[in-house]
Amino acid sequence: MTAVARLPWDHVPAPPAAVPGFDVERVRADFPILKQPAHGHQLVYLDNAATAQKPKAVLDAILRYYEHDNANIHRGVHYLSERATQEYETARKVVQGFLHAGRASEIIFVRSTTEAINLVAQTYGRVHVGRGDEVLITAMEHHSNIVPWQLLCEEKEAKLRVAPINDEGELILEEFEALLGSRTKIVAFSHVSNALGTVNPVAQLIRRAHARNIPVLVDGAQAVPHMAVNVEDLDCDFYAFSGHKMYGPTGIGVLYGKTALLDRMPPYQGGGDMISSVSFEKTIYNKLPHKFEAGTPDMAGAVGLRAAIEYVQRLGLDAIAAYEHELLSYATEKVAEIPELRLIGTASQKAAVLSFVMNGVHPHDIGTILDQEGIAVRTGHHCAQPVMQRFGVDATARASIAFYNTKEEIDRLAAGIEKVREVFG
Ligand code: PLP
Repeated sequence: MTAVARLPWDHVPAPPAAVPGFDVERVRADFPILKQPAHGHQLVYLDNAATAQKPKAVLDAILRYYEHDNANIHRGVHYLSERATQEYETARKVVQGFLHAGRASEIIFVRSTTEAINLVAQTYGRVHVGRGDEVLITAMEHHSNIVPWQLLCEEKEAKLRVAPINDEGELILEEFEALLGSRTKIVAFSHVSNALGTVNPVAQLIRRAHARNIPVLVDGAQAVPHMAVNVEDLDCDFYAFSGHKMYGPTGIGVLYGKTALLDRMPPYQGGGDMISSVSFEKTIYNKLPHKFEAGTPDMAGAVGLRAAIEYVQRLGLDAIAAYEHELLSYATEKVAEIPELRLIGTASQKAAVLSFVMNGVHPHDIGTILDQEGIAVRTGHHCAQPVMQRFGVDATARASIAFYNTKEEIDRLAAGIEKVREVFG
């Protein structure tokens, strides 16, 4: 009989050492999807805030999981079930290391950022928010950090308060602070805005909320692909992100929560794995993190997410942030030269996003013409309609960058925008 290769259960894989320097051509070779034409041009993919492309390491890890390890987890005593369980739990530990969480049991696997926020609203929120209480968000949130709180507030007859932003798309700190009151039961805001690219001063905002003993949820969907995040340093109570926006697969996301809060929260969904015993009289819930993971989870998704995290760790998050910062500055300067173009979102701290409108041209027409040039951008309200209202537009065109984009691609974007001007000139 051959011995089963096992990882010790307490083994937390060390992050791979970052490769010094940033060789974008070498990085691009890891993304097969980028090497294809679109409408007769070399594809330029600038829709990374919607979903990022996956390196071969992620695709291979998912294939390897299904070829070698697949079985249902936790409940099996057989060889494959143990292996699959190990893969899944090791992925959790890799996420723990990635976010610098104190414990692996503080990492809850969910479907996405959306599900993570709904989970908190429907568990923590339903217990702690009552009639006349307040939930504070900001004016730059994605719908998935608005609607779950609206649902909660409607049900509980509570009030949703919204901290305003200025003309640059930055949160107005004094107004945020003024809205923190004795009735505020939870605060939720994005780390990075998907529609504007604004990077919020999250540590500062968290300190201000904590000074009044108010817990904070941070929506990190647009942050984790672009910068190192340390939830213990930030001291946030909850942090949410999606795998697919950070080079991992769709269908997997993460909710980090502090043990003290998660422990006191009721389960979100009922089903297999989230219980320790069930009878018709009484069900005892499982311990963390399983209490919040009802049913068969996305095992292959967790494996793919681990591979994505290890991939960005190999590149080095600081190297990624520095490279992308340079690219964003280059792109901002380039498009600023284009007459009739207005940038939406000009915060002093920005990441990855270039949102713009053009006089007399509907953003959908911008997107369509760029598409004909092989350039993928997103047009619309970006699931942030209140942001559009704040800036008096229905929609914007949004180019969002990743570390595999290049200055040549930004030049192609600028040339594409010139073409839009010619067509509508
Ligand atoms: N929050 C922000 C800031 C986002 O940009 C997005 C998606 O664009 C979400 C939340 C929702 O992410 P998902 O659709 O993966 O749940």
